[in-house]
Amino acid sequence: MLPIPEPGQEVQWVAQHLGYLFSDDARRSERFVGTQAAADAALEALDLTGYAERRNEVLPLERRGASGLSPWIRHGLLTLPRVFKLATGPSKDVQKFRDELRWQEYARHLYARLGRATGSPLRNAPVVRSTNDVEPWDRSMRCISVNLDELESDGWLVNQTRMWLASHWSVRNGADWRIGEQYFFTHLLDGSRAANRLGWQWTTGAGSSKVYGFSQSQVRRRAPELCNSCDHRDACPIGEWPDEPELVSVERDDRVRHDPDSERTAGPKKVERSSSPEVVWLTAESLGDDDPALAAHPGLPVIFVFDESLLQALQLSSKRLVFLTDRLAELGAERALEIHLGDPRKVLADRPLATTFAPVPGWRHRADSVVLAELHPWPWLKRPGSGSVASFSAWSNRR
Ligand SMILES: Cc1cc2nc3c(=O)[nH]c(=O)nc-3n(C[C@H](O)[C@H](O)[C@H](O)COP(=O)(O)OP(=O)(O)OC[C@H]3O[C@@H](n4cnc5c(N)ncnc54)[C@H](O)[C@@H]3O)c2cc1C
Repeated sequence: MLPIPEPGQEVQWVAQHLGYLFSDDARRSERFVGTQAAADAALEALDLTGYAERRNEVLPLERRGASGLSPWIRHGLLTLPRVFKLATGPSKDVQKFRDELRWQEYARHLYARLGRATGSPLRNAPVVRSTNDVEPWDRSMRCISVNLDELESDGWLVNQTRMWLASHWSVRNGADWRIGEQYFFTHLLDGSRAANRLGWQWTTGAGSSKVYGFSQSQVRRRAPELCNSCDHRDACPIGEWPDEPELVSVERDDRVRHDPDSERTAGPKKVERSSSPEVVWLTAESLGDDDPALAAHPGLPVIFVFDESLLQALQLSSKRLVFLTDRLAELGAERALEIHLGDPRKVLADRPLATTFAPVPGWRHRADSVVLAELHPWPWLKRPGSGSVASFSAWSNRR
């Protein structure tokens, strides 16, 4: 068991207790704090005016329309239904914003259904052409270096620059998309296998029939100051559109078209209770005040487990661990909390738990060997069905 972090001491706490589980020097994101208070304040301040037009803008910063809510959405500090409901503003902007929330929901449905299979190409295998002596992301280009700096220091990027980097890596340079995906996952505070793999699969042609090409024209349009200050401005290496990448079609997983067990994918519809819970188990999927199990048991202690072998293997950037610790420090000041480092199945063994279903394979794997005294449904925006998830539009039409 680990001591409860003092609010304000999260970085030191992570360095002291989780020091061998991350890949950089202990530090926090330069932009995001992982508390419920910060999440609520960001949602309260959300102004969607101009969102539809400016969501894809990159620089200058004041032109950006993106909400920046994704790190809190990722960890359940803001649930999709809550954000969906509270979105206000001009109807065109609200509609576009809600569509993006649906993309998040779609990513979750796809991952809940296919799980680890989303780590392999769903439709095409882009042919890997890059050799080790070619750096897929050339940091002498401002459109690469400035965006990688943002990823590495803030743990976040707007959607547009995620597509630029992913396309540059795989479509133009022929590097393996799964390695680029892993680099994003290491640094993104919102990094999820669901949305990150969806983004990489769909940008690089692995999961779709269309590939996203990246060239100087997008930078000139969305972030002109990058070209103006770049050493390559007069001989831009991405001045031309990239060649069409070579894609080899792969055998499709039948579950993309039809889910043979959508009840399992979606989890329980209502609370399933088999005995009296003694503790609430919170996971990194759902850390917020609105977590259904947490909200249902204000008097019970809470338990959170840092999965040691998982983190050791992942070697994430420390800013992700600090983000989670921000929330644990906040929670520890409000309620009885236990924080453990180890194997969740061993730590939780024999303790009757109240917890919330999480639509990810890791949760199922652990939940199979603990005592689920009370299992709460996942707060879906729309409960998964058995229809096609082959594309966003196929999924939207068949919901
Ligand atoms: C290569 C690549 C990797 C990505 N990796 C992730 C990831 O690991 N985690 C993640 O949450 N998103 C990922 N995205 C999707 C998207 O880029 C981010 O959700 C978005 O940029 C987050 O910023 P925001 O909160 O300001 O978004 P906004 O534009 O304000 O949108 C509001 C919310 O809608 C959801 N959303 C918006 N766009 C998408 C999208 N294309 N796919 C899924 N959900 C979306 C997010 O929850 C977001 O917070 C990725 C996209 C690409 C192209």
